[in-house]
Amino acid sequence: MSSVKFLFTEENVGKRHGVYPDEEQDRTKPYSEKFWSKVETLPIERIREIQMERFRNIVQFAYARSPFYRRIWDNAGIKPEDIRGWDDIRHIPIVTKYDFGDDQKENPPYGTAFTSPPNTQLKYWQTSGTTAKPRLWTETKEDWENGIFLYSRGLYAHGIRPGWRGFFGFSYPPFIAFWLCHSACESMGCQIVPKGPLSTKAWLGLIKNLSTTGVDSFLAATPTFTMRHVEMAEELGINLKELNIKVLTMAGEPGACVPSTKKYLENAWAAKAHDQLGSVETSGPVMYSCAEQAEEENMSDHLNLDSFLVELVDPDTLKPVGDGEPGATVVTALTRFGMPTIRFLLGDWMTISYEKCRCGRTLPLAKGGIKARSDDLIIIKGTNIYPSLIENSVRSIEGLSPEYRIRVKRTNAIVMVEAKPGIKKTDYQKLSKILEEDIRDKTSVRLMIEVNPPGTLPREDVKTKRIIRE
Ligand SMILES: [Zn+2]
Repeated sequence: MSSVKFLFTEENVGKRHGVYPDEEQDRTKPYSEKFWSKVETLPIERIREIQMERFRNIVQFAYARSPFYRRIWDNAGIKPEDIRGWDDIRHIPIVTKYDFGDDQKENPPYGTAFTSPPNTQLKYWQTSGTTAKPRLWTETKEDWENGIFLYSRGLYAHGIRPGWRGFFGFSYPPFIAFWLCHSACESMGCQIVPKGPLSTKAWLGLIKNLSTTGVDSFLAATPTFTMRHVEMAEELGINLKELNIKVLTMAGEPGACVPSTKKYLENAWAAKAHDQLGSVETSGPVMYSCAEQAEEENMSDHLNLDSFLVELVDPDTLKPVGDGEPGATVVTALTRFGMPTIRFLLGDWMTISYEKCRCGRTLPLAKGGIKARSDDLIIIKGTNIYPSLIENSVRSIEGLSPEYRIRVKRTNAIVMVEAKPGIKKTDYQKLSKILEEDIRDKTSVRLMIEVNPPGTLPREDVKTKRIIRE
């Protein structure tokens, strides 16, 4: 019998299917001044034990109830009882978004991965469809509560405390995005002010109006939209520094972990920029930044390894990479039951480090955050180039606006940027040269640069597709 105290009562949530270690204690409130959960500080050996126990549990559960997983594992000749140790995990086939997509095409609309009738589950989502046709996902009350527990951890690590006000710069579409952040904030006791369909102009007016009440506040938005506020505020003559926003909690894209983007946003808002990154498939956030990392120029994110198994593989061969080497993530959500995610090729490109963080958390670090989604990786003349690396260059150069796109042609790429307003056309050539050299210094590859007049590149409000393949 677990001694863990949950947010939802058993009468409310029904019988839980997960394994809940006693160290989770009371999930509904902070464990200490600094940590939301004691789990964040457990010895890594204990976290490994929790991972293994949870992994075996989710595999057994999915095999018994999910036709999708049973089919794939039967084809591979794998049974749950074959998973005895860490080496056995690799025998379970890796699944991709295409496997889920094909399954849903053949068995519309939900496919066959669910473990209880999808119409009876608490949450309905679809993926944002930036790189593939939207896929449908559902999750149970138990899953949702587990997501809230993880999200609260991240928000608390960002410095957000009960009683703060959260400005939610998003339009509440049917993908998970900030919905989970919303629920976590509410359960922590923060007031939420949603943007919804308001125009950016009306939205900034609303934030300004409420800023006079003196409540500590934070903004939850994608890096693209956080950036969009800066441009709009300039146009409207609003000083973002006066809005009493202390923390920028960003999700959906790499942002706070790109040093020049972080610096740019922190200067504009007089706030600390933070990451909280997950996906629809993982439900809860896989990683989050802490206050100590936010002081670093090159920030890293803690990985929630008690709730996720994160493996790194070569995206072409799907073979594991060596310790300390970069790779694409294969993620198992250990506490998601409605539509389980087991050895899913999420494809975030990262390096895992076990170096100690000054904050005292033992959860390892994704070094420098997510570098790219593997779909966004560009290979030019045999060199891997991440969009975040180009972004870091573009945003570190005086005279260039933060907007950029990368047009990839077969053997080369053109970086399209904009000059800032007031820069003379005759100086574009000089800017182009500075950027070209900066990128060459960082990648040893020479890319073509195209400097455009201000406002040439389209502005997005949610996520920006940076790479255009031709
Ligand atoms: Zn830390």
